[in-house]
Amino acid sequence: MLIAHYKEKLINAEFAQKQKKYTCPICHELVILKKGHKMVSHFAHYVSSDCVGNEGETQLHLKGKQHLLKDLIKEYPKIKLEIYLNDLKQRPDLLTGNLSFEYQCSPISNQRLKERVIGYQSRQINSIWILGMDYFKKNLHAYSVLRFIRYQKCVGFYLLFLDASQHQYCLKYQIYQIGNQIQCKLKIFDNYQMLIKFMKTPQQNTYLQPNLIKLTQSIETKVRWHDTAMIKLQKRCYENGHLLTGCPLIVYYPIQNSPILNRNWLEWKIEIILYLENKQECKLSDLYQLVNHEKFLFIKIKNPTLSFLKLLAKQQYVKFEGENIKLSQNFIWYRDTYDKIGAIKKLEKRHYYDS
Ligand SMILES: [Zn+2]
Repeated sequence: MLIAHYKEKLINAEFAQKQKKYTCPICHELVILKKGHKMVSHFAHYVSSDCVGNEGETQLHLKGKQHLLKDLIKEYPKIKLEIYLNDLKQRPDLLTGNLSFEYQCSPISNQRLKERVIGYQSRQINSIWILGMDYFKKNLHAYSVLRFIRYQKCVGFYLLFLDASQHQYCLKYQIYQIGNQIQCKLKIFDNYQMLIKFMKTPQQNTYLQPNLIKLTQSIETKVRWHDTAMIKLQKRCYENGHLLTGCPLIVYYPIQNSPILNRNWLEWKIEIILYLENKQECKLSDLYQLVNHEKFLFIKIKNPTLSFLKLLAKQQYVKFEGENIKLSQNFIWYRDTYDKIGAIKKLEKRHYYDS
């Protein structure tokens, strides 16, 4: 806790003095000022306290909050640290008007995160979550990281991190699913103003296209290594008289996919194709239900299922008919990996789908 009361005023621990008596703004009990050489000054409750403000915060978390205060106050002169919102029983790290900033260093359950975000939303507060470096080190595929994703026109899908020990901001931006990977670009900023300026400047979107042959081989490798998800998918393909490794090339497109929570692109696209093959015609809503992409907390993404179906329509595999969708051309499945690689080589001589 960085803030405590002294004679009705909120005092930042950085400016507090040992000989004075400070109280917690939430429970009004006496708190201990902790100051030291290598320590971020802060207030602590006595061990016996059961105050909601008594949550063990790491030094990095405390340091990050102090950095954020110093940086954000230039943009938002009225920003305040640790204001307790009594009705919500929530204490944002920083709050200004209808904007709260959270510096999230430790793991947080999805339920707790949702409760907090929805709590803020009920008060029309938009919460900005800046992640600690433990999150930075994790793979972008990890649900625990990806769920924090946001979108901004100039930088695309992005995640923002603060390295409190270095006082640097790290921006992972233009986050897209390309081939088997989630790719992103990274930029590091020594100050917040430069970060904001960068985020307001349109950034070029230049990505290398994935190698379709390698992508095809990687599916084969996963099947051979008995990857659980792939074996399941393989079984689904068998039931329909196909081999997973020979799946239609159209599933690799569009090359650049929006990030999707908790789901492999190959899996949901093949599900759609198999469903269409079996039914020939179905309601659009059936396909939405079949795939049922989990929603992000902080952004609305254009329905990935619809984007894929539009691509299928563009390539004349399907036709939209009102609320329905109808298969108009059979998908091309290949006999095996070699057959498919041969087809890719032929297609690469000319430009395949322009998407
Ligand atoms: Zn308290």
